Amino acid sequence: MAVLGAHISISGGVENAPERGRKLTCDCIQIFSKNQMQWSMKPLMIDECDRFKENCKKFKMIEAVIHDSYLINLGSPDKALLKKSREGFLEEMVRARRLGVEKLIFHPGSHKGSGEQVGLKRIAESLDWTRKEFGGGEVHQILEITAGAGNLLGSSFEQITKIIDFMEDQKSVGVCLDTCHSYASGYDIKTKEGYEQTMNAFDDLLGIGYLKAIHLNDSKGMLGSNLDRHEQIGKGYLGLEGFRNLLNDDRLEKIPMILETPAGDKMYKKELKILRSMIKK
Ligand SMILES: [Zn+2]
Ligand SMILES: [Zn+2]
Repeated sequence: MAVLGAHISISGGVENAPERGRKLTCDCIQIFSKNQMQWSMKPLMIDECDRFKENCKKFKMIEAVIHDSYLINLGSPDKALLKKSREGFLEEMVRARRLGVEKLIFHPGSHKGSGEQVGLKRIAESLDWTRKEFGGGEVHQILEITAGAGNLLGSSFEQITKIIDFMEDQKSVGVCLDTCHSYASGYDIKTKEGYEQTMNAFDDLLGIGYLKAIHLNDSKGMLGSNLDRHEQIGKGYLGLEGFRNLLNDDRLEKIPMILETPAGDKMYKKELKILRSMIKK
């Protein structure tokens, strides 16, 4: 059975997220470990990390994952910004370790006009640098596929493969497939044939074992539009049919599938119910 959940707010403290998720019928949650639009962050206290871990158990979360800050760009050609991004990403990894979270999901980055190859290599170097600085611990760096607008990297399995190939330490990386982003970047996961082709391409290039998380979002943009605009489940170009293949794919049974749809808490419960109803028993 697919593991379904949603991106949940941490207002009032990270420890509140598991209960909030459970109330919305989530079996897994994604959180920001801090304000995602700010560089500065208040350190996580031991007791707040303990309460988060206890609550994950208490409210029966199969898994909790973290999405990093939107300000971080591991592919930036600007030296100062790159340094800040690497340090910020390292801090995100440390926070994940403190919270007992094993997957840190992030957008690979933008080359800002400095060129695709250079950008992909820079991202790989950033990931190696943070891994070295981080030391031990089971925090996986999970590259999220992007919609491919402008200079944003990571919109194809080929680009993601290149980043991983450029890395020295490839043991603890993985990929997050966002349904809106992949559809917008040209992967037709809506039809049965398109879905099979997409998963085969992923398997050929990366190996299905690299797939560690899925974001379930409908898309306001058409196939190949490169538009990163999430829509409520069933209300966008993917439509309900766009999710059926994925929900019934045995290979994805234990992978957290997370909603990041625009109505948030107001609609999550309903959307999860619709998605669950499409799973073949
Ligand atoms: Zn994301
Ligand atoms: Zn996403």
